[in-house]
Amino acid sequence: MQDWARRFMHSSRWLSCRRCFVAKRLAIDGGVCQDCGRRLGEIAHHWPVPLTEQNISDPMVALNHDNLRWVCKPCHDLYPGHGVAKPDALLLRFDANGDAIPPYPPPGEGGRRTAAGVSENMQGVARPPSEAGKPAR
Ligand SMILES: [Zn+2]
Repeated sequence: MQDWARRFMHSSRWLSCRRCFVAKRLAIDGGVCQDCGRRLGEIAHHWPVPLTEQNISDPMVALNHDNLRWVCKPCHDLYPGHGVAKPDALLLRFDANGDAIPPYPPPGEGGRRTAAGVSENMQGVARPPSEAGKPAR
C-alpha cells in the first residue's frame, strides 16, 4: 500500500466512515459480499471511482458510501490492480541455461508490454469484475 493510502486508511475520518458503512451493510443483508453474494464481505472497496493520491482528500470520493462496495477478499482482488499477484508483478523466468530472464525489456529497446487483463478490465468499469460475463441486470 502506498504511503498516502496508508495514512488515509488509519485516519479517524476513514475509520468512522468505514464503521458506518459496515453497520449499514450488516443491517441491509448481514454483510454479504456485494459482488458475489456468497461470502461475507471484509473490505470496504472504493468503487466505481478508485482512490488515488489526487482524489483522496475529496470526501465525495473517499468518504462517500455511494462510492464504496462491501466485498470479500477474492472479489476485491479481481479489481484491476488490487490482486496480490498483479498481472505485471515481477515474476522471474529462466532461460534454457538457467539464467534469469528480466521481466521487462531494458529501457530503450522499445519493447512493448501490456499488462494483460488490466487494460481489458478497465474498459468495463461500470460493472464490478466479478459480474463481467454475466448477463446485464
Ligand atoms: Zn465476493
